[in-house]
Amino acid sequence: MRRTSDRIRPALVVAVAAALVVSGCIASDDGDRFRLGAVDLADPYVPGSGNGGYEVSHYRLAVGYDPPSDRLTGRAVLTATATEALSRFNLDLAGLDVTAVRVGNGPAEHRRDGDELVVTPDAGIARGGRFTVEVDYAGVPTAKDDGQLGTGGFLHTADGAIALGQPYSAATWFPVNDHPSDKATYDVEVTVPDGLEALANGVPGERTSAGGRTTWRWSEASPMASYLAFLVIGDYRVSTGTHAGRPIVTAVPASMPEDSPQARSLARTGPIADFLASRFGPYPFSSYGGVAVTDERIGYALETQSRPVYGPGFFRDGRPNLDVVTHELAHQWFGNSVALNRWSDIWLNEGFATYAEWLWTEHDGGRTAQQSFEREYAVTDWSRASLDPGRARLFGTAVYQRGALVVHALRRTVGDDAFFRILRTWTTERRDGNATTDDFVALAERVSGRSLRSFLDTWLTGTSAPALP
Ligand SMILES: [Zn+2]
Repeated sequence: MRRTSDRIRPALVVAVAAALVVSGCIASDDGDRFRLGAVDLADPYVPGSGNGGYEVSHYRLAVGYDPPSDRLTGRAVLTATATEALSRFNLDLAGLDVTAVRVGNGPAEHRRDGDELVVTPDAGIARGGRFTVEVDYAGVPTAKDDGQLGTGGFLHTADGAIALGQPYSAATWFPVNDHPSDKATYDVEVTVPDGLEALANGVPGERTSAGGRTTWRWSEASPMASYLAFLVIGDYRVSTGTHAGRPIVTAVPASMPEDSPQARSLARTGPIADFLASRFGPYPFSSYGGVAVTDERIGYALETQSRPVYGPGFFRDGRPNLDVVTHELAHQWFGNSVALNRWSDIWLNEGFATYAEWLWTEHDGGRTAQQSFEREYAVTDWSRASLDPGRARLFGTAVYQRGALVVHALRRTVGDDAFFRILRTWTTERRDGNATTDDFVALAERVSGRSLRSFLDTWLTGTSAPALP
């Protein structure tokens, strides 16, 4: 993510301890054989989001949306595997009315508990058992408003809707295990009135029309964190082509002129992705793209998988904004393909995406990465930690700019050759997975053959300016 105001200096930080603890296992109705599903993943950055006891491997979503009434109808079919014996489990779902739940072929009891959907199947599910959950639901979706992190989720717009947000959004439009540690593949069908476009992640499928409504189909075959799933529905000009042998789909509001700064920026998606691939290793997904939106409530750009969404604030000066495109595309490697296990490690996403902007600027004939480093080093507030920055500063400068300083300091320390080998080894070995800061440190030490832990600790969390490498 990049907020429109990311360049503005931050206010303050409150550090919060952030252990990820799977908790909530309780003795069960079935004696000791099955336990109630672990209730909550207990990531303190996103209390209530994510559930234990199972892992989802695939979401098959069919949603219909009617803009005049703002009503959404949905059927979600989740394929999951129990990681412990379950007699009950939770999904995250905010708002919306659930009309039926089936587990396997049988109906399942269900009830709501706040933003949780609590499902009790007819029979317990054995540890390691693979099962499907089918949920029928409908209603008028509402975004989640978090005092600290802002608004995320389903927004009704002038011409349709936008479902978008980090760290929250998915649970406002489908039942989900809403935490990046549980990645899954997606097939999404979106049915909207004829004449509107419906964009989502991944490779476009067949589009069909019947009874005045058009169904758009999208498929993301690489595992994806739930906050990276998006929907944009409205009156858009969609461009479809191929880049490097894969589909590229970009969309800008139809109301914009053909040569809008958004259109000119999105047109650079392929070349910028190629530049990043030359530094980070092969592009990790089966499609490319980007979507520009005009709704002023989207005060950020978000790296939604394979197809980032860009808010209006990046394009006010009438010129293309390639920094933000570079940032969101860099996340396809750092954050999306290699995803977080817990939000306290978010510098692994934002530090590298910010560093990618420095690399692009140098490549484009501007400041060198070393000059960007020196400028940023001089103005950094070292009292703010990059690692585990505190929930209120999840998107703070210490995560972004200090995170990029850490990356460049590593480069200065190990040298260019080892540095780019570290990045490529990371994106290769961790592709389609999840990782932590400890994982990164261990890999950097292995690839470089140097002890780096105390050096990286100092740059990530030290409270005074570290010595320049
Ligand atoms: Zn970002």
